[in-house]
Amino acid sequence: MSEVKLEDIVSLCKRRGFIYQGSEIYGGMAGMYDYGPLGVELLNNLKRAWWKEHVYDRDDFYGLDSAIFKEPKVWDASGHTSGFADPLAECKKCNTRIRVDKELENIGVRADEKMSEQQLQKLFDENRDKLKCPKCGAKDFGPVRMFNLLVKTNMGDFSGDIEAAPVYLPGEACQGIYLNFKNVVDTTPAKIPFGIAQIGKAFRNEISPRNFIFRTREMEQADTQYFVPPHQNKERYEKIKQDRLDWYAKMGIRQENLRLKQHENLVFYAADAWDIEYNYPSLGFDELEGVHDRTDYDLTQHSKFSGTDLSYTDPTSGEKYIPWILETSVGMGRMFLAFISDAYTEDEIGGEKRVVLKLPKHLAPVKVSVSPLLKNKPELVEKAREVYTMLKKEFGTVMWDDNGNIGKRYRRQDEIGTPYCVVIDFETLEGDTKGTVTVRDRDTTEQKRVKITELISRLSGEFALSQD
Ligand code: ATP
Repeated sequence: MSEVKLEDIVSLCKRRGFIYQGSEIYGGMAGMYDYGPLGVELLNNLKRAWWKEHVYDRDDFYGLDSAIFKEPKVWDASGHTSGFADPLAECKKCNTRIRVDKELENIGVRADEKMSEQQLQKLFDENRDKLKCPKCGAKDFGPVRMFNLLVKTNMGDFSGDIEAAPVYLPGEACQGIYLNFKNVVDTTPAKIPFGIAQIGKAFRNEISPRNFIFRTREMEQADTQYFVPPHQNKERYEKIKQDRLDWYAKMGIRQENLRLKQHENLVFYAADAWDIEYNYPSLGFDELEGVHDRTDYDLTQHSKFSGTDLSYTDPTSGEKYIPWILETSVGMGRMFLAFISDAYTEDEIGGEKRVVLKLPKHLAPVKVSVSPLLKNKPELVEKAREVYTMLKKEFGTVMWDDNGNIGKRYRRQDEIGTPYCVVIDFETLEGDTKGTVTVRDRDTTEQKRVKITELISRLSGEFALSQD
């Protein structure tokens, strides 16, 4: 089968209602996407699976959902107002802005956004003859300058001047966790070592949002922050890194599409940083999730800037210290893209090509489809409606599908990853097989007759099996 391309995934997402371009009827807005009826189900299933792993299956983790808007000093303390910047250069001919480190990487030059402006300028100048404007092809760029990615708002400011006292949208969701560290310690049984998990929105003025939902300006980040005593970071960090990698494999992502990559340039406070990379169609290996050893930087900074002491006193030893933090952070869009790409399969059934989304069953946006064999036979439709209502009550995401012939319905359900198609036929209504339906399996295409009275227990068993 041919290699899957990003455009195959984009096309499936649009065609079947997984993802739409944001503000599409107005011509679209760069870096914004909306999740459609099937997309929101897959996204929620991924969030649930992630939450289960980090909150429900652990007794040393606490959940959180912090406000998007934060006191602006938070972003001074975190270093975002001064240092959260990407290198930009502008094409002198058509004014297109490029992200310098990414364009250098594209031509095989090692660069990243953590290098200084001078370092990047030097690399840029050395390679000017190889760097073309992606829009007009000109090789005439202005100087490299660092562009701050924080998005400003006038929340609560009525002066009419957005620069007067900007309140920022979060550049990363995790800051809400640091702000609530003390609250969680004071109001729960949490004792170090423990973690806080949150899925929250973040916004970045990305210079060139691209590659579908891989790089967007609005994103959702699933973060864990694990608090440990000073210098007890190394061993725990290795375990967290491995656990996160293993989680993707456990969730069905193919091993050969995952790898770990260590950062070459660290921000000044970090002790270590690795990316879990996924082999995205057309893009190759790129960052899916970051795993960062952040030392005591975050709580030290917030203690300093807020004037609130965020140190922790060990209840047994009485030792007082600022905890060190181990972080994992994954964009839900990148996670979505990895799962849908990994599941996307083209195969052949009886000489006919099909696209099938081989998602783990508990992640599938629609769990079961129900069809009457023929839609013009009222007795079949009536029975099918009964079965549909029963299954919908149990599983929620059940689809009624009576459009086209049965083969077409199967293809349609395969394409959206529905694990089971239930068909009500004449054998359901009479003879030895009365009270049974056909259940067709997405992956094997095998069909079995199952008693209606056993449908829920048989199907629940299947979904539960792949629950973790
Ligand atoms: P990149 O190098 O790709 O810009 P980053 O290193 O700046 O990413 P982090 O700040 O570590 O990313 O953010 C944690 C996670 O958030 C990333 O691993 C990624 O999954 C996600 N993420 C970051 N920026 C974006 C974006 N613009 N669009 C979608 N997801 C993003």
